Amino acid sequence: MKINVTDWIESYTQTGKLPELRIPCIIEGCDVTTTCFGSNLEGRIKKTEGGLRALLTGFKCRGCRGGAKAKTVRMTAEGVPLKRAAKATRKSSKKAAKEEHVENLKQALRNATMNVNAVPQRISFNDPEAVRQLTENACQRPDIYLDNDRACDGCGLYEHCACKSKQLLADTGRKKLVAGPKRKK
Ligand SMILES: [Zn+2]
Repeated sequence: MKINVTDWIESYTQTGKLPELRIPCIIEGCDVTTTCFGSNLEGRIKKTEGGLRALLTGFKCRGCRGGAKAKTVRMTAEGVPLKRAAKATRKSSKKAAKEEHVENLKQALRNATMNVNAVPQRISFNDPEAVRQLTENACQRPDIYLDNDRACDGCGLYEHCACKSKQLLADTGRKKLVAGPKRKK
């Protein structure tokens, strides 16, 4: 025996941990140790009939557990490993879906009616309704908002702004401005 099993069990009982993070293979002349702690260890103890003692006195490393089993790899008719073939199929169907999506977007754009007479709309910041419409779905001055650590101090739209994120620094309970670029009022 390469370890004092009784000591190891005592360590586990008292601390919930083994003295080392790896447990040794019991086979004479084999010095392989196997990582085994935490949930891995718990799992192994549960799976082992006879619990921790049986685990420690009977643990064989993977190499000693009786040769690596020959790995069977299933092949497609073309001689490509099945898993790789499936992966390739998934990849190409993903690509096809993406291409279709882009094509649909292009088509939607072609079909969209553009108003060739559209002109920029002038909005008076003193017009409460205009500002409300402009701001109700999005902050119009995220530059100010973000530089202020999410507060509207210094924003000319504040009074009539309808954005849900609207708040003054004082409302946030934060005391000082986060250092950022200086801004002219
Ligand atoms: Zn071994």
